Amino acid sequence: MSTKIGRRFEGKVAIVTASTQGIGFAIAERLGLEGGSVVISSRKQKNVDEAVDKLKNKGLEVVGVVCHVSNAQHRKDIIQKTLDKYGKIDVIVSNAAANPSVDPVLLTQESVLDKLWEINVKATVLLLQEAAPHLQKGSSIVFISSIAAYHPQPAMFMYGVTKTALLGLTKALATEMAPDIRVNAVAPGSVPTNFAAFITKDEAVRKIAEERTLLRRLGTPEDMAAAAAFLASDDASYITGETLIVAGGLPSRL
Ligand code: NAP
Repeated sequence: MSTKIGRRFEGKVAIVTASTQGIGFAIAERLGLEGGSVVISSRKQKNVDEAVDKLKNKGLEVVGVVCHVSNAQHRKDIIQKTLDKYGKIDVIVSNAAANPSVDPVLLTQESVLDKLWEINVKATVLLLQEAAPHLQKGSSIVFISSIAAYHPQPAMFMYGVTKTALLGLTKALATEMAPDIRVNAVAPGSVPTNFAAFITKDEAVRKIAEERTLLRRLGTPEDMAAAAAFLASDDASYITGETLIVAGGLPSRL
């Protein structure tokens, strides 16, 4: 049975990376609920299959593709399979990220620095290089940055720096892809997903995170999905190069 809630993405095709759970899954679900055909992906086939089933059970139009974003063949596959199935790409949400270390910047190993750069920044650029020839006028790109882009937090400083890089990438690509394609970003605050398990595992840490926000709560994946869907939709047709901070009022200036 269909449970669609809107029409903003009717006739549109969206690719969401890292979308078998958490924020990416919620974005894929939201785009599907608003009528879009959605291509979801992540590293593990089992996770892809389970997420596809969940979305299909809600009556959504979805296909799943295994795509580890730092794998060149996987990036080619996700673009080609989208084109084979739906013939076009209207929206790309680049959501994958890694945070492999809690070391201070000056003690972070080179291999970790490389991985952070490769997954959080470089893979996004390479995916868009692959997709760009197939994007048409009116297409829209959304990056998932982080509140940490503005205020790097202890134990995740270098991760925060890669998210700051996405703010710059948003401006750079918005300029490079204008006027036909818009490029924006969402900067989530703390959202209790697996990625942020350190917040939710410990009740005291969770409480501190909640109380730091003006709205006195953590964000939900659905809060982030609403913002991403807005930026990807024609409702944001005069917005490009911007980052929408969705962080319950956490301080957000560089
Ligand atoms: P999550 O719930 O842990 O989900 C991560 C998803 O990414 C899974 O579907 C995972 O599936 C997939 N994945 C992981 N590595 C991947 C890779 N290399 N290539 C492709 N897929 C990959 O994470 P989340 O909290 O939703 O985070 C999503 C985004 O939000 C990230 O960019 C993160 O930096 C950002 N963010 C999160 C928070 C927060 O508090 N949660 C705050 C600010 C920003 P597989 O295991 O099958 O690959």
